[in-house]
Amino acid sequence: MPSEFTVRTHSQEEFIDITNLVKGVVASSGVQKGIAVVYIPHTTAGVTINESADPSVVEDILETLRKIVPFNFPYHHLEGNAPAHIKASIMGSSLSVLIDKGNLLLGTWQGIFFCEFDGPRTRRVWVEVRGE
Ligand code: ZN
Repeated sequence: MPSEFTVRTHSQEEFIDITNLVKGVVASSGVQKGIAVVYIPHTTAGVTINESADPSVVEDILETLRKIVPFNFPYHHLEGNAPAHIKASIMGSSLSVLIDKGNLLLGTWQGIFFCEFDGPRTRRVWVEVRGE
């Protein structure tokens, strides 16, 4: 099984920076050179990499997603959370980050964000670290 940690979200839609949690998994793996796969085992949440320096960037992403995927639309899925499923697919459920010298190879302004679209909930994140 991959490593797992949980994320507690506090609103219906929210991006949470999980970079340090993923770094912690990589550090405890002891892998110096390889790859970390971050996987979200949920259908109404996703994961993405984007700017972590300015929090207004992820606010803009959320607001743009609301424009693209409106809450009021005659969706077929009758649970009431169809927009959350669609936004989760737009963001995607996994990503890979290279590891070098035991560190995640991220650009200066990049962070890894858990994307909540149907919160608040307690969510799981799986991280598989491969390498040597
Ligand atoms: Zn649903």
